[in-house]
Amino acid sequence: MAAYQDLLDKVDAFSAHAVEGQGPYLRCARGCDQCCRQPRTVFAVELAHLRAWIADHPEAVIGLPVADEGPRCPMLKADGACAVYPARPIICRTHGPAARVDEALSYCALNFEGLSASAIEGLIPASSVLNLGLLNTLLVLLNQQHLAAHPGPARADIGEALEP
Ligand code: SF4
Ligand code: SF4
Repeated sequence: MAAYQDLLDKVDAFSAHAVEGQGPYLRCARGCDQCCRQPRTVFAVELAHLRAWIADHPEAVIGLPVADEGPRCPMLKADGACAVYPARPIICRTHGPAARVDEALSYCALNFEGLSASAIEGLIPASSVLNLGLLNTLLVLLNQQHLAAHPGPARADIGEALEP
């Protein structure tokens, strides 16, 4: 779990760097929740981290999940904020700014309004683009370490963290 926290810290540091480099083209903000209005699965190591955080902060998830139409992450509050923000999984910390998956750029459709991927490439610093493929590989390896000590499914619905 310490290694996962270390990875979270590194991802947060890089994400701050990405926002610094791409900030003029981003509209990510508290309450902008389109990226949370979908089912969310997490790696087992992330589920364990979330469970531990919720055990320490039970007040944070009172009233969840919110009844609503359509798919939504069960951690999404009625005001559009994330109830588990300090413990949110890695995908939630990287989604939004432009990141690289293989050769292609990946970013939220609400950001970079009206710009093509090739135009974005020319506007933002290359050093602000996260290598998402490499990050996913590191996360898979950490998850395998976690599963060796805590056997179970490799991935689970994030809502399982709300179950007793
Ligand atoms: S990733 Fe997209 S939907 Fe999510 S906060 Fe940023 S702009 Fe909003
Ligand atoms: S964990 Fe939080 S940030 Fe991630 S999808 Fe759910 S509500 Fe959104």
